[in-house]
Amino acid sequence: NELYGVDNWANDFFSISENGHLHVHLHDEDQKTAVSLPDIVDGIRERGLDTPLLLRFHDLLADRIRNLNIAFNSAITQSGYQGCYRGVYPIKVNQQQQVIEEITQFGELYHYGLEAGSKPELLAALAYMHDPDAYIICNGYKDQEFIDLALQSTKMGLQIILVIEMPSELNLILERSVALGVRPMLGVRAKLSTCNNSHWSHSSGENSVFGLTTNQILNTVDTLRDHGMLNTLRLLHYHQGSQVPDIQSIRESATEASRIYTDLIHEGATMGLLDIGGGLGIDYDGSRSDSHSSRNYGIQEYAADIVEVVKTVCDEAQFNHPTIISESGRAVAAYYSVLIFNILDVNSPSADSIPNRIPEKPHPHTMKLSEVEGYLEEANLQECYNDAIYYREEILSLFRHGNVSLRERAYCNSLFTRIMTRIHEIADTMEQAPEALAEGNPFRDVYYGNFSLFQSLPDSWAINQLFPVMPIHRLNEEPTARATLADITCDCDGRIDQFIIKGEHQDHLPLHPLNDHENYFLGVFLVGAYQETLGDLHNLLGDTNVVSVGVKNGKVQYRRELAGDTIADVLSYVEYDTKNLVERFRSLAERSVEEGKITPSQRRQIMDSYRESIAGYTYYESPNT
Ligand code: PLP
Repeated sequence: NELYGVDNWANDFFSISENGHLHVHLHDEDQKTAVSLPDIVDGIRERGLDTPLLLRFHDLLADRIRNLNIAFNSAITQSGYQGCYRGVYPIKVNQQQQVIEEITQFGELYHYGLEAGSKPELLAALAYMHDPDAYIICNGYKDQEFIDLALQSTKMGLQIILVIEMPSELNLILERSVALGVRPMLGVRAKLSTCNNSHWSHSSGENSVFGLTTNQILNTVDTLRDHGMLNTLRLLHYHQGSQVPDIQSIRESATEASRIYTDLIHEGATMGLLDIGGGLGIDYDGSRSDSHSSRNYGIQEYAADIVEVVKTVCDEAQFNHPTIISESGRAVAAYYSVLIFNILDVNSPSADSIPNRIPEKPHPHTMKLSEVEGYLEEANLQECYNDAIYYREEILSLFRHGNVSLRERAYCNSLFTRIMTRIHEIADTMEQAPEALAEGNPFRDVYYGNFSLFQSLPDSWAINQLFPVMPIHRLNEEPTARATLADITCDCDGRIDQFIIKGEHQDHLPLHPLNDHENYFLGVFLVGAYQETLGDLHNLLGDTNVVSVGVKNGKVQYRRELAGDTIADVLSYVEYDTKNLVERFRSLAERSVEEGKITPSQRRQIMDSYRESIAGYTYYESPNT
């Protein structure tokens, strides 16, 4: 648990069992049951879907919605707050149909609504959100079609709020409201002056792209007043950016927004709703700190602070407490999905054996390098380190000038790696190792994982987002390798070399050596938010298989299965016609028969392979699957 920090980031959803399996804790009726992830994966593979695969746990999604509502409701009760809480889920965080369906089901009890930032998201929201007590918040750019649909749907009793993000939107909304005979429910999105230090801090502060300045908000109020529509202004919205690490800046933003809110009532607006946007963070690295990958507060503290701030400001102004709306996405969806992939191969520089044919007449520097091994001990560690580096550099230079052979260079390289590994082993046992060795062994085993970073973990590539990564089995064996992970795209950016180990950020992940004829599975956790649809088709590696898992009467239930993209699918996304591809390949094969390069029956075999591949998975398929 300590090595991979499970207790710190897992929020009690995952734990390690005595047999070394990682378990997920799911609701089985009223009880929580621990289910082995390797058993789940085995069950899926037996049914015909292989790794890489994305596991979805709807139970964890339900839990997060429940926790968020309980946190706000108890903060409201404890503080004597007179308003209520209504969460909305921002569809952009994970737009998959299954997610929206489940969120609207689990959220029904709490009148949990949806946030739509575009026309497609609005259409999805209207199809799934029919609760008249929940809100549909419309952010983003809105054209006439968007506005008309929202206004017409308001007639059916839905609470749809059009949030004005750009001054130019107001006139169109007013015009369409008159044309359609609908009184809209309006909001304004404020640019707050408060900033935060998250990855997404550009969404906050006065230079943020979206939202209205205080001046523009007041112009909006004046225009609405002139049209006799000031009572349609119901909501103030702000969004601080995602993954806000520091509770202090959350409090500051809430205070600033509450002041704007009360001043809008002073101006004559009806108000009643304060929408605090997203930003509630996830503790990816388990440090509970204000680093980018963490946050220094929990859900309960977040809710209590927001409620307290809003209450204090409204009490001072002697106004009713508003309904608090939050648009938490990451905090709701992150735990939902886990990416599982198998390791295909390991490239281990320290295990590189010395070539069996050593040079016949080695260069004197090669001899000197090999002698280092003979006098290497704790007392002269620094000297051996210096010598090894010196002779290795000399040999590289000799090679560049054509004075030693490739075979001699390879020999020296292996020797050097072996000496350095030994030096670091000795240094690790010393109380005060030489300073040059303080960074630890620089050699890493590269573990090749059957996944695409660009498809499944885009934030890891784009913004160095840190996700918990660990084996899902063999956790009762000591992991002896110091690894980095590479994916199967042929892109040097397709790798993970930032991990959280024993609570610290490290450039390597302790992993187990591969056993013959045995799969080795790793899991990447907290990938339910933003990763699925931000991913791209780099190298034409497509969507992975997805399986939704629950538990009933102690038995694992595979509730939904979605086969990942086939090669035909991804080729069609980039405008290939698969029939045409087959035809083009057929003509090459037929020409080869005509030219006597292959026989007709070989042509049949080749064509069968081509057709079979086109229908297959885009990822590495093991021969036995
Ligand atoms: N609301 C708006 C307007 C957003 O732009 C976002 C995403 O950045 C969110 C809500 C969701 O934020 P989070 O995932 O941090 O909860």
